[in-house]
Amino acid sequence: MSLLGKRLSLGASRHEVALPDRDDDAGHESRPFWRRKTLRQMTEAEWESLCDGCGKCCLNKLQDEDTGALAFTNVACDLLDPDTCRCGDYVHRWDHVPDCVKLLPTMVHRLAWLPSTCAYRLLAEGHDLPDWHPLVTGEPDSVHRAGVSVRGRVIPEREAGDLEDHVVDWEDL
Ligand code: SF4
Ligand code: SF4
Repeated sequence: MSLLGKRLSLGASRHEVALPDRDDDAGHESRPFWRRKTLRQMTEAEWESLCDGCGKCCLNKLQDEDTGALAFTNVACDLLDPDTCRCGDYVHRWDHVPDCVKLLPTMVHRLAWLPSTCAYRLLAEGHDLPDWHPLVTGEPDSVHRAGVSVRGRVIPEREAGDLEDHVVDWEDL
């Protein structure tokens, strides 16, 4: 097993919750932006607000060199705050973690390791947001209450040792 591109970041929402600006294009349309727009049509604030703050994309992942099979571990990037599940130094993250990847709309279809609960993956596959998503509930903590964030389930890289000892098969991956 080899280490796979393990880091992913989005924008301000990985650091703090960013609510989208008022949508002047909405007109009389009452549906929320994520049902009306494609990922590429969204404003930056809308795009970033899609991140539910689960923290699962900040976990280390392994890939079998022969089969290509992916495996998640419960080992988080050292910069991830295990309680808030958000980046501990988002603005300067690349100073600490040069391989942290910024997710773009053009990348969503190509990243097989986006978790099944990830809003970007769900929308790209034609699904709606889950009822626990902060944009639906209006409460940032709803992702934690639903038990789909990494809160309470991860250890930092600096304490982990061999990643192969930490492979997990969570239902929400
Ligand atoms: S997996 Fe998706 S929803 Fe969860 S923190 Fe990463 S980008 Fe955000
Ligand atoms: S630096 Fe680490 S914690 Fe911060 S967004 Fe990137 S992977 Fe996540």
